[in-house]
Amino acid sequence: MNPQLSPLIELQKLDLRIADIKEQRRKIPERLEMNEAPLRDARRMVQDASASVEALNKERRSHEKDLEAHEDRIGKMKDRAAQLKTNQEYQAHLFEVELANKKRGEIEERILLAMEQIEQTQRTIASAQIQLTESEALFTKEKAVLDEKDRVLAAELTELEAQQKQLSGRVEKSLLARYNKLKSTRKDQALALIKDGICVGCRLQVPPQLISQVKRGDEVHTCPYCYRMLYWEGEPVAEGKRPLGQDQAKDFELGESV
Ligand SMILES: [Zn+2]
Repeated sequence: MNPQLSPLIELQKLDLRIADIKEQRRKIPERLEMNEAPLRDARRMVQDASASVEALNKERRSHEKDLEAHEDRIGKMKDRAAQLKTNQEYQAHLFEVELANKKRGEIEERILLAMEQIEQTQRTIASAQIQLTESEALFTKEKAVLDEKDRVLAAELTELEAQQKQLSGRVEKSLLARYNKLKSTRKDQALALIKDGICVGCRLQVPPQLISQVKRGDEVHTCPYCYRMLYWEGEPVAEGKRPLGQDQAKDFELGESV
């Protein structure tokens, strides 16, 4: 590995982890918001149903007042019956009483209906209340987990940022500037490993000549396609000291058979 690049490789590992932590922390409020949705729904359901019960009670009380006033009128009507003289007046009175009774029946019907609706809505409130309690408990638990996660990540971030500062101080200034510029334009890594003849940054094949230059590790080379600084994992390979190639292997075989 190029000795110039090795602190940068460490720095890149830190930077990637820092970016990952920041991304994870950024998502936490969204997740909280999402987990809170069932709780908000349950709360709204309880509120709406409670408002309905209030409205229905008001309606019922108004019908009860109507009934009271109507009973009053019927009472007065019956009092007048004693003063009736003719049969015709009496028949008219009976008809009036019948109509009044019918109306009373209608008002009573409305009161009953309101009471039924109140009862039904109260049952809705009871079940929504259960749902609300459950949602609250679940959300409290989820929030505690996410808060703890955020706390742990924040602590790790503080630690990593201190290490990042320290490590940056150990990298040669112009190289660090180059690294930081590449990091910002590439949005991820400024350094790319060569693996199986490929730059892992852009997944393109690196010319063999460049690979051997990178392996020598005496200078910093960049990928011709993505411009990332290339590095090779392992000890620098000195010039001329090639691994055992096919030709050499053949020679060896021939040598042995002689
Ligand atoms: Zn590349």
